[in-house]
Amino acid sequence: MPVALVTGISGQDGSYLAESLLADGYEVHGVVRNSTEENLAALGSPAKLTLHAVDLLAPDALESLLRDVRPDELYSLAAVSSVAASWNDPVMTGAINGQVVVRLLDAAHRLQEEHGHPVRVLHASSAEIFGQVAETPQRETTAIRPSSPYGASKAYAHLSVGVFRGRGLHASNTILYNHESPRRPEAFVTRKITASVARISRGLQAGLELGNLDARRDWGWAPDYVEAMRLAARAPEAGDFIVATGVSHTISDFLDAAFARVGIDDWSSLVSVNPAFVRPVDPAEQLGDASRARDVLGWSPSVDFETLVARMVEHDLELLDA
Ligand code: NAP
Repeated sequence: MPVALVTGISGQDGSYLAESLLADGYEVHGVVRNSTEENLAALGSPAKLTLHAVDLLAPDALESLLRDVRPDELYSLAAVSSVAASWNDPVMTGAINGQVVVRLLDAAHRLQEEHGHPVRVLHASSAEIFGQVAETPQRETTAIRPSSPYGASKAYAHLSVGVFRGRGLHASNTILYNHESPRRPEAFVTRKITASVARISRGLQAGLELGNLDARRDWGWAPDYVEAMRLAARAPEAGDFIVATGVSHTISDFLDAAFARVGIDDWSSLVSVNPAFVRPVDPAEQLGDASRARDVLGWSPSVDFETLVARMVEHDLELLDA
């Protein structure tokens, strides 16, 4: 039975990935810390899922875990995953998003070279490595020039994946554009909008404060992006793959779609811009060209923007009804 090890298994993507790996018949091991694991509740307690409480920053902990678990596939998802949080703690962001990934690559490489056990590594890289983008749409060859601690930490890990690939490790980057689901925390603008819209529609919240309504993002459906991770890990050749829909929308478009779902056409009096939420160095637009993922991996997104927003609003309405 193939074995997979997932860091960040309690997150949005980690929980969807665990579900799909279990459905594939994998023995799944996940790294957790002592915090909420509500996303994992959806999985129940399957016999083939083992959670390991490991401090990612503890010296030798990951190498020892890899030697015990001997994964065939290793998914590196744990991260300080928001740009805003990375500004609050750039040093921790560098450690978790950068150094820990290098530790995983080194441990996987040693398991392969010293113990003869090949490991395929998949790193969740990010569109934020492109920062103020050099071209639109972005491709795998677009210049890497991050503009936040988050982007810089992901760039370090991203480039290290290439370095270890050069040493014979099957190590790939999925360069992920924003992807959403009902499992996104409210710290992210999309879920903040859908949860607020649900509450506003029920008279439980008066209005909503946001940052730059004109920022353009390429938003996809999280389970689709997890599928791209699995395909990249299992591809004959390791590589870097942009994972995006190729369609961008503004925050205003997201508001339009979310409020439309609850029958509100004019939201102008319900939303205000708070300069405190505007991050000046945020890229104005992110738009990915996923041709390579389509051609090499056979991947394509299955959920369009309107459906994605509708699913999130409906989920938040259901939560209020529960
Ligand atoms: P998420 O929901 O925020 O999950 C992050 C995971 O990392 C959680 O399991 C979290 O554990 C873990 N983690 C964070 N800090 C940690 C620490 N100090 N020690 C141990 N574990 C820690 O993120 P996601 O949306 O699933 O994203 C998955 C990966 O894709 C991340 O690497 C993210 O940067 C990358 N990515 C995501 C997007 C996107 O739009 N979602 C776009 C580009 C790249 P706890 O549950 O204990 O907090």
